[in-house]
Amino acid sequence: MEKLPGAVNERLELLSRQFRDGLAKRIHEIDALEAQALSGNADSTRELRMRLHRIAGTAATFGMDALNGAAREAEEAVERDLVHAAGTIATDTVGTIELLRAAAEHPYVARIGSSEEVSAASQKTPRRLVIVAGSVAGLPARFDEQLAVFGMMLVRVDELDEIRTYLHQLQGDAEEAAPPERGAIEHCILLTEVAFIAETPERLREVVSLREEFPSRLLTVLVGEEDDFQIRLRSVRFGADAFIPIPLDLTTLIDKLEATLEREQDNPYHVLIVDDDPEQVSDTALALQNAGMITSVVTDPQKIFRVLVEYKPELILMDMYMPGCNGAELSGIIRQNENFVSIPIVFLSVETDAERQLEAIRSGADDFIVKPFSVEHLVTSIRIRAARTRAMRFHMERDSLTGLLNHTNLKQRLEHEMQRSRRIGIELVFAMIDIDKFKRVNDTYGHLTGDRVIKSLTRLLVERLRRTDIVGRYGGEEFGIIFFNTTAYHAERIMNEIRESFALIRQNSGTTEFSVTFSCGIGEFPRFETAQEINEAADIALYKAKQSGRNRVLIAES
Ligand code: GH3
Ligand code: MG
Ligand code: MG
Repeated sequence: MEKLPGAVNERLELLSRQFRDGLAKRIHEIDALEAQALSGNADSTRELRMRLHRIAGTAATFGMDALNGAAREAEEAVERDLVHAAGTIATDTVGTIELLRAAAEHPYVARIGSSEEVSAASQKTPRRLVIVAGSVAGLPARFDEQLAVFGMMLVRVDELDEIRTYLHQLQGDAEEAAPPERGAIEHCILLTEVAFIAETPERLREVVSLREEFPSRLLTVLVGEEDDFQIRLRSVRFGADAFIPIPLDLTTLIDKLEATLEREQDNPYHVLIVDDDPEQVSDTALALQNAGMITSVVTDPQKIFRVLVEYKPELILMDMYMPGCNGAELSGIIRQNENFVSIPIVFLSVETDAERQLEAIRSGADDFIVKPFSVEHLVTSIRIRAARTRAMRFHMERDSLTGLLNHTNLKQRLEHEMQRSRRIGIELVFAMIDIDKFKRVNDTYGHLTGDRVIKSLTRLLVERLRRTDIVGRYGGEEFGIIFFNTTAYHAERIMNEIRESFALIRQNSGTTEFSVTFSCGIGEFPRFETAQEINEAADIALYKAKQSGRNRVLIAES
């Protein structure tokens, strides 16, 4: 976009913004058409296909890859329904439209493996390749089987240059088939000892050059003695993505991989710009978009709350002087609403008078960026504050041990998803899990080991379920899962696979290995009609599963 003349650029910017702003409405229309199509109206199915086609086209024009991909997939699915089923919408099609809704929230972000999300949740096709270089001490017994449980494949190499071959294959695959084929390997993880790399200068050079050549494909994880400061220092100098102490604990490894892979680019920050000057806005918005962020714009201060509620931006960037209502006043109004007490407000202003700046700070603003500013300074200070907002929100909504939704938020989501299922007229499943004889685990191996078992189940659930499924920690060693657009029968199959995998995990207490099982109860909408009923049904089924011997999955009967 940078090479276009300014005016064209601005025009594109404006159109793109209008499209974004109108996206919620378009999705709403899609919802309505989908509901009509599901009730058997073939004309609506045809209209639905056309709308999807338009969204795909416009999204492509503005470089919104994720949205384009999702709309195209949904369009193809609807097209198939028209050709093969006289317009009757298939279950898979509903899944593709569900993904389109998700993509509309982050239209620029390409979702690798999106087609996979629609298909069976618990397939075991590996998505990550773990490459162990040289001999690594302290790996868990039957490491390959354990990795397979989490969808990872293990290979061993004697020299680092062999890794290049894997990475080239991976790169080639990605270019041939974009988006990548379902189940294709997405990342390679080099797992090795610091001593192995440090042994020869060639190896050190090779690591550096591999990392430069494949920055988004290769992760380097070094293992070594926990309290060896020299080794840790060297691992930092080698630029390792993670350091893991030996004996290597599988859950720790997967936690670190997740944390590293869940980078900003997968989920960009959303910044709300409030400014009455369109020219100023398009400059700022472009600078932030180039830095990978998503921007919304409000030129009329009165409309700000709608955007705050709907898009949940991580930061507000505000002009100091606007007609009708100045920045200090507006931030005062925002702060009066307790839902927005913590969102950072940053002023963009030519104001250098310290007294005036202070007044704005008193009104609830967090920072000042004085014009003219350097783009780098703008982006950095926004990124730091947006990251903090996100971290804070995460902790408010989530459980601290597992990072899953907490009890309150899980129940809210259940309520919300039930309403949506009712509106669209599709199935929903609520499953409850309770770990078997967990008291005994705590009594025998200690509370910390118990915590690790809870985490290992968390990781397994997150790895195995679709991204559209919602997992929460219901309480102590109890979990709740919401499956959207799934039947009880299908959920039972998935939960049974996860149950079998969980029993295979070799839990480690430091001195002994042992295994743990869980029981699960499943309730289904529309058989149970309200959030409370489906919750109780799942609970009773879980109780029956316990009564009849544990380590099993039962579906609730009405
Ligand atoms: P079962 O469910 O199979 O009937 O037996 P159980 O032993 O799991 O029974 P119960 O649900 O009554 O016990 C759950 C135990 O889980 C009690 C509590 O000490 C433990 N627990 C709850 N939350 C945590 C936690 O966060 N960490 C650890 N380590 N233990 C927890
Ligand atoms: Mg319990
Ligand atoms: Mg229990």
